[in-house]
Formats: sequence, C-alpha cells, structure tokens
Amino acid sequence: MSQLNLVLLGPPGAGKGTQAHRLREDFALPYYSTGDILREAIASETELGKQAKEIVERGDLVPDDLISAVIEERLDSGEADDGFLLDGFPRTIGQAEMLESALDKRGRALTAALLIDAPDDEVVRRLSGRRTCVKNGHVYHVEFDPPKREGVCDQDGSRLVQRDDDKPETILNRLEVYHEQTEPLIKWYEERGLLRRFDGTRTPDEVNSHIRATLATLALEAEI
Ligand SMILES: [Zn+2]
Repeated sequence: MSQLNLVLLGPPGAGKGTQAHRLREDFALPYYSTGDILREAIASETELGKQAKEIVERGDLVPDDLISAVIEERLDSGEADDGFLLDGFPRTIGQAEMLESALDKRGRALTAALLIDAPDDEVVRRLSGRRTCVKNGHVYHVEFDPPKREGVCDQDGSRLVQRDDDKPETILNRLEVYHEQTEPLIKWYEERGLLRRFDGTRTPDEVNSHIRATLATLALEAEI
C-alpha cells in the first residue's frame, strides 16, 4: 500500500479533532498532535524529552527544531511507515520547510495537506455557544446540544458557564493569529499542489466521506 503522509490544517472549531479521530480509525494511521507527542516525549524521558522538559518548565515556547526532532523520532520508530496524521505542526512556512526536508531525507514526501475550513462567523457561533459544567466539565452547546434546563448540567445538576476560551473576544483573537500564520502556509501548500480543501460547515459524516474519497484517489494516483 502507498503511504499516506498527511497534515491537517484548519481554524479552531472547524471539526479538525473529530475528523482526525475518524481518519485514525479509517486508515489506522498514527496521529501526532504536537502537544501530545511533546508530552509523551517528556513523560518517557527521551533525550529530546529532557530538553523539552527544561524549556517547558522555564515557561518558554518549544523551538521549531526541537518539535521537528520529536516528530522525526516518531517517523523513525517504524510505527509511521505507512503514513501519519500530523496536527498542530506545521503552523508556519518555516515549519513546513522543516517537515519537507525531514521527509525528503527519508525518501518520503507529504501526500496532502487537508484543510478543514469554516468561515470566522461559523467558528464563533460554534465555539461561543459552548457551555461547560463547573463540577465535572461536561460540555453542552446552547444551539446544537442544549441541556434540558437552561444553565444546568443534565448529569450532575451543577451550573453551566462559558469558559474564557469560548468567549467571543478570545475566539476572535485566536482566529486572528490563525489567519496571520496559517494563510501563507495554505498558499504555500496550494502552490505545491498538495492542498485539499474540505467544507467544515458540512456534517462530520459528509466531511469524512469527502476526505476518504480524496485519499482513495490520492492512493490510486500514487500507485500509477
Ligand atoms: Zn456536569
């Protein structure tokens, strides 16, 4: 079988996490979310993990080359020989170039960058409607998944609040950062013919079947 070396892109709230979960199951690909693999490297006390730990404990941002090295460690572990699903890296063109050369050194190449897109107002509508219970963190949505009684958790009767992360001003800030960093990256992948766009405003099932159809086509093309 040909490799599926994939990068996931998209604004917060467009359903990237849901699709990543489905793709992992559909194609049995290892999923590398940068936050998770850094935490794993730190927990397993690898050489890179120790370096990352020091940086994180100082409260600094883990530099790109260290993140890239952690990803490369996973590429060489054997688990990603048939492909991988990368989420959270690259976020910038500089990081994309690092990934490209890391793959290139191994005689591999990215299969596609999957962009799950949604307009800003849709992202705000989805994220700002979230309500979280103060006791156990159960999550509701005022529009898509409302509790039986407004403001009260169905499961434990505790109060539902809007987390700071879900406040419109916070979401707009995150979107601004996303557009600033990621739009040039989207263009970069587009110029290389690697970008595949999906409409994140469709249902998760529809998005999933579009992605599957696209990947099936890419796999066929790779075999020719
Ligand atoms: Zn609750």
